[in-house]
Amino acid sequence: MGISIQTIMGILVTHNHIDHIKGLEVLTRRNSIPAFTTHKIWKSILSPHKNISRDCVREIPLQEKFHLAGFDIEAFPIFHDAPETIGFQICAGGKKITIVTDLGHICQTAATYIKESNLLVIESNYDEQMLLNGRYPYFLKERIKSDNGHLGNNQTSEFLADIFNDYLSHICLAHLSKNNNTPEKALHAFYQTFSERGISLNSQQRISVLNRNIPSEMIRLVE
Ligand SMILES: [Zn+2]
Ligand SMILES: [Zn+2]
Repeated sequence: MGISIQTIMGILVTHNHIDHIKGLEVLTRRNSIPAFTTHKIWKSILSPHKNISRDCVREIPLQEKFHLAGFDIEAFPIFHDAPETIGFQICAGGKKITIVTDLGHICQTAATYIKESNLLVIESNYDEQMLLNGRYPYFLKERIKSDNGHLGNNQTSEFLADIFNDYLSHICLAHLSKNNNTPEKALHAFYQTFSERGISLNSQQRISVLNRNIPSEMIRLVE
């Protein structure tokens, strides 16, 4: 995004899967950026990834606010097939951002954080038909669909329709599978569910799909 790496004051880590921690070694060793996650997640990361700088390890509790760079941040547990996985709620200036990817279903705790958000980044991982008909082996399809796997487009859309409210100004669909989804399919599921449920976005509300490979546009919640 053209932001200097020196201005980054912390990295929030959600779980130990490689697509989420690939950059940690370089970011901690070369740039000395502190990284924040729970004790249990650190344990699962540090034993196989010995080159992550221990000086940058910061442990955070679950469901207790900590302060970083002008933000109040709280981690909450979500259900995924890792030793532990967390979502984050980030608050500043009276606005709340919630980030939840990598979860097989949305439990009450996660739903509570999500419902309060002004900006929500939520997983819409797979199109149900593409996954079913795709080339993944049976066990992997079952893992992805399970309660500890990922959220499918219909699952995410139904949930969003359930909790949709006027304060939610931006929804970003994220963590789309490269093999089992397309941005068009994720958006189509969203619009179809909303129209079936008779819900429409007001003129201030935005839905977008985050690209796997390029940064999103800057979203401003406070002018
Ligand atoms: Zn992931
Ligand atoms: Zn994962």
